[in-house]
Amino acid sequence: PSRFTSDFDIMECLGSGAFGCVYKVKHKLLPKHYAVKIVRCGKNSLREVGTLSDLLHHNIIRYYTFWMEDTGHQWNISADSCSSSSKSNNSSAKYLYIQMELCDTKTLKVWIDEKNTQSLQDSKRREESLKIAQQIVGGVEYIHSQKHVHRDLKPENILFGLDGQVKIGDFGLVTSDYDNDDSALMERTGDRGTTTYMAPEQKTESYDRKVDIFALGLIYFELLWKLSTGHERGVVWDDARSQKFPEEFSLTFPQEDQIIKSMLCEKPEYRPEANTLKAELEKWKF
Ligand code: ATP
Ligand code: MG
Ligand code: MG
Repeated sequence: PSRFTSDFDIMECLGSGAFGCVYKVKHKLLPKHYAVKIVRCGKNSLREVGTLSDLLHHNIIRYYTFWMEDTGHQWNISADSCSSSSKSNNSSAKYLYIQMELCDTKTLKVWIDEKNTQSLQDSKRREESLKIAQQIVGGVEYIHSQKHVHRDLKPENILFGLDGQVKIGDFGLVTSDYDNDDSALMERTGDRGTTTYMAPEQKTESYDRKVDIFALGLIYFELLWKLSTGHERGVVWDDARSQKFPEEFSLTFPQEDQIIKSMLCEKPEYRPEANTLKAELEKWKF
């Protein structure tokens, strides 16, 4: 008797990764669609729901409820598909099911990829990027005001709600501000190639909410600037991480150049707070 399969019709797999998968579902009794994220229970899995249940904001994915199952169904979580099969051994794995607001299948990563294939005017991209950046900053300001740190901001974890608003998702690495001495971070984010959004101090000692500001700086850069592929991408990215932007970027987007540089300060204490950023970006109009 699985609550998942008795309450919902499973429509499609929306995403999967090393730590779980996300399904689009329809409630059997209501004409409503949701996203249900299934993760294998681990040491810190309850943190994600604990945090989400505290947060209510139009730029944060809305959370409804969670439950645990140990149903005789083993969810095979693999890189590109999710499927269920009968359990073949006695090891009863527990799974956490998180019911949340369904968002568009197009993540911010897809948005960026799409913009990079269109030959958009700089001014148009600038305007659209500002609107998105303002909303992400709004969500981050709220997260920080509730004394949480997201720690995994990146375009794949930023979605578009069906209400058209930008929504921050994936609270799988969330922690509370000033209390982050755990091994989960390295376990779960590891080193995934050159395109990392992690602040330099995040790999080492202690750090605080300013790691989110660093990631946000890189995201804003990527919203505006078409990165090439392959080796060159890595070079431009590494330069950006140390506040060196292509000359053309700084000339085309002087205001953004300044603010993004401040967000990428190596010393976290010199990076602006989310509320300061939000106030600044709200003054802008392109
Ligand atoms: P990662 O390994 O990247 O950290 P994850 O397993 O922790 O991923 P999420 O990032 O929460 O899980 O979700 C994985 C993907 O599923 C997202 O990148 C997104 O494409 C999709 N997704 C997640 N939540 C939703 C939602 N509420 N609505 C629509 N799609 C979603
Ligand atoms: Mg994710
Ligand atoms: Mg995650």
